[in-house]
Amino acid sequence: LSSFSASFTTQAKQGNEGLIQQQLINLDHGDPTMYQSYWKQMGDKTTVVISGWQSVSYFSDTKTHCWFLEPGFANAVTRLHNLVGNAETGNRHIVVGTGSTQLFQAVLYALCPSDAPEPMSIVSAAPFYSSYPLITECLKSGLYKWRGDANEFDRDEPYVELVTYPNNPDGSIREPVVNGSGGILLHDLAYYWPQYTPISSPADHEIMLFTLSKCTGHAGMRLGWALVKDEAIAKKMVKFIEISSIGVSKDSQVRAAKILDVIADTYEHTETSNDSTRFFDYGYQEMAKRWRQLREAVNKGQTFSLPNLPVGKCNFSNRTFGTQPAFAWMKCEKTIDDCETFLRKHKILTRGGVHFGSSKKFVRISLIGHEEEYNEFIRRLSLINSVESL
Ligand code: PMP
Repeated sequence: LSSFSASFTTQAKQGNEGLIQQQLINLDHGDPTMYQSYWKQMGDKTTVVISGWQSVSYFSDTKTHCWFLEPGFANAVTRLHNLVGNAETGNRHIVVGTGSTQLFQAVLYALCPSDAPEPMSIVSAAPFYSSYPLITECLKSGLYKWRGDANEFDRDEPYVELVTYPNNPDGSIREPVVNGSGGILLHDLAYYWPQYTPISSPADHEIMLFTLSKCTGHAGMRLGWALVKDEAIAKKMVKFIEISSIGVSKDSQVRAAKILDVIADTYEHTETSNDSTRFFDYGYQEMAKRWRQLREAVNKGQTFSLPNLPVGKCNFSNRTFGTQPAFAWMKCEKTIDDCETFLRKHKILTRGGVHFGSSKKFVRISLIGHEEEYNEFIRRLSLINSVESL
């Protein structure tokens, strides 16, 4: 391995390309910068001008429960779901939030009664999204308590189970696992979009969370939305957002509405669009390419392995394909016990399995960053794999 490091350093000193080779590659966060090149290619189509006199009032639409929801954003969300067929929108309340992170907290507030003798248990099957325990525990609430892996939950008491599909970090298609009474399900569908997984049918659950971050890539706009069947739950979520931030940025909602409408336009006005201008096809091709590159690099040796992911027919695109998640859940084989530390020595930052309620043998790798950085990661991973497997 030391000869590998030496040749690596020599290579790294050669020319401009060497600069990126010496840098730390950060694949820890799921920052969706991959999508920037698509939006650049769309030029001014999504440009929105917002004048100084706009967005002055706190209020957007006082006739609906969610009084800070911009009608144009609500329409664009409904239009896109109906186009893609990934969620039922009829007879549901839309609640907008500052990212689905805020909505997750709003749901917890709405579901956990303030007069219960004990805090409500919050569980999710491991490996689970690493922010769930952090968000649940950060304020040491008396309303709810993080109880970890849903597979190990056997208390005879009310609970909330978080079901994420495709799952962050491992891309699996999840069903609830707790078999108790008094359970409430919260479905996090951040990645249930056709660039990541076949859309088999419209999701039809009580509470569903979506986010712009992983749909269009606009994480910085900080917008998410919930589709909620029960009016009382929706109203309590709105109350939480009212208390915590007095609503959600109107400017972001106006921009987001434009972006979602442009996506729908490229499918509904097909005469002026093709595969590279239609957003989900672009995203699908890019994810397919990145997964191909990753599997090729992993197959060069025996150092790493990847999970097998389910294949299905997508009713939106008519393609049959295997789930190609935004993250890879990679395992270090052989004698490498701590995969995160091992990769960090090679200047690759990932998030270790322990954060997700799993083992150090695993890491989560983001596949949705900048292309140059991703290509350099693939180059490094292939090299490590070939040398380690000698
Ligand atoms: N849920 C899941 C499963 C996620 O992966 C993420 C983002 N990493 C979120 C929620 C939070 O998204 P947002 O940016 O909307 O807060």
